Amino acid sequence: MSEAAATPESAPPVDLGSLTLLALQSFLKGLGEKPFRAQQVYRWLHQRGATSFEEMTDLSKDLRARLSSAAVIRKVEKDLEQRSVDGTIKYRWRTHDGKLIESVYMPSTDRKTLCVSTQVGCAMGCTFCATGTLGLKRNLTPSEIVAQVHAVNREVRKNEGLEQLRPLTNLVFMGMGEPLHNFENLKVALEILKSGDGPNFSHRHITVSTVGLVPMIERFGAETDVKLAISLNATTDEQRSRVMPVNRKWNIAALMDACRKFPLRQGRRITFEYVMLSGVNDTDADAERLAGLLEGVPAKVNLIPYNENAGLGFKTVVERRAEEFRELLAARNVAAFIRQNRGRDIAAACGQLANVEAQPGEGAAPTPAV
Ligand code: SAH
Ligand code: SF4
Repeated sequence: MSEAAATPESAPPVDLGSLTLLALQSFLKGLGEKPFRAQQVYRWLHQRGATSFEEMTDLSKDLRARLSSAAVIRKVEKDLEQRSVDGTIKYRWRTHDGKLIESVYMPSTDRKTLCVSTQVGCAMGCTFCATGTLGLKRNLTPSEIVAQVHAVNREVRKNEGLEQLRPLTNLVFMGMGEPLHNFENLKVALEILKSGDGPNFSHRHITVSTVGLVPMIERFGAETDVKLAISLNATTDEQRSRVMPVNRKWNIAALMDACRKFPLRQGRRITFEYVMLSGVNDTDADAERLAGLLEGVPAKVNLIPYNENAGLGFKTVVERRAEEFRELLAARNVAAFIRQNRGRDIAAACGQLANVEAQPGEGAAPTPAV
């Protein structure tokens, strides 16, 4: 039995894939290894997406044994895969402790985008969103966030017969969960995903969407350089508070103030997502108010026809209404786009990620965190 074998008193194994390169260096230093070993291990984990120590063939057997007694590589196991007629693939993953999370692969002619989850469920309780009905089960660790990307890279390589280690080109943090409610782990995951010794995504190709946690928007702007999307979804506080409980804490004025202060790089805009709910937020007056709210903010609006979820009581808009709404915005010089619905036939579209089987001891109703 190895020296470091788990005993009730011993520390839990280190989750290796959640360590930044710097943290990995100090971990390996603790094992008596030189800093260059950290880069070697980090590359195995995050450039090649290794899921076992055996794969790390240029490490000595002895080091691999010591690593496997002190640390673990947490991967996600494929639980379900659903393919849409439009090429979208929804993956459901099982975490090491049996939680189910989802990622959605959306290929198009010029990019291969992955929609990534950051939490198991969500605490924000938006009344139109399927994930919101789950409540928050737990945060995902950095390694679980990153593992979704590694796993889908592997799938795309296999399915599309590609050699390149990282066929994915873009990441959007718009899956299950509220990314800024899990900011520390998100930040580590972003550092890894952007690392030149890892998947090497450009900050220009990563977008994080938030429900509007105002104080976290400021931190996000100060501590990261990736793109920001805001789920606005309404034009009056009365309306927004009704569908998004977060608005009772940080209202539209506070949110727009945070947006105006957000440090934008040259030429960059904030994306505002606007889920169109028939009879709720789709009037001409809404379009007028929306244009007014965005005055002075470098913005682009994504109009998202609502993807209906049974039992939540909202209706989507007809295509013509979305187009009229877009034209009203355009007439006020607001760049607006109707977001093409992807994966609707497999419930992989926005706000439909809740395909989670009952998990033992987790029947609790969602509790809005705000
Ligand atoms: N929690 C973050 C990111 C995940 S939700 C956020 O709320 O921004 C991603 C986007 O899907 C949000 O803009 C949300 O408003 C939208 N959405 C949620 N449910 C939806 C549904 N049923 N149909 C269309 N869009 C939905
Ligand atoms: Fe959570 Fe976003 Fe869904 Fe709101 S829309 S419940 S914040 S995942």
